[in-house]
Amino acid sequence: MEARYRSTKRFWNFPCCHRQHKHDGHCRFIHGYSREFKFWFECTRLDENNFVVDFSALDELKSWLEHMFDHTVLINADDPERALFEQMHEREIVDLRILPSVSMEATAKHVFEYADGLVRESTGGRCWVAKVMVAENDKNSAEYELVERRATTPPTVEANSEPADTDD
Ligand SMILES: [Zn+2]
Repeated sequence: MEARYRSTKRFWNFPCCHRQHKHDGHCRFIHGYSREFKFWFECTRLDENNFVVDFSALDELKSWLEHMFDHTVLINADDPERALFEQMHEREIVDLRILPSVSMEATAKHVFEYADGLVRESTGGRCWVAKVMVAENDKNSAEYELVERRATTPPTVEANSEPADTDD
């Protein structure tokens, strides 16, 4: 039997703006949100305090989230107006952050990769990130999750019993 521990941590109220330049509708206009992040941490062996992750050790994650999403303007890396946004950043009109994509789904993957690297390094590989949820408001959210192969592998016994069943 395989078992594991899981703990969660939420960070919320990150005021930031973004635009989806390819979107046909109003999402191509800069619009603001209060973003929220939730992390699922996992391990099979607890630390000396019997924690999955010591939350007091997550300061670096919190600082990075603030750097990326607190009072910032987010654009996609391939935004055709990127030069204009960079100019506004230089003139301190906006605090610009460029992401591969600003969507909740892509942000969840981006944040997952940063947090997973951080937590694996700080725990010597004992702990990992299993899932990240990113919400832009109370209504809309997306998740990025570690998928395990064993969940999609059919049991061998059922496969072997198949020919016998067709004879009936
Ligand atoms: Zn939108």
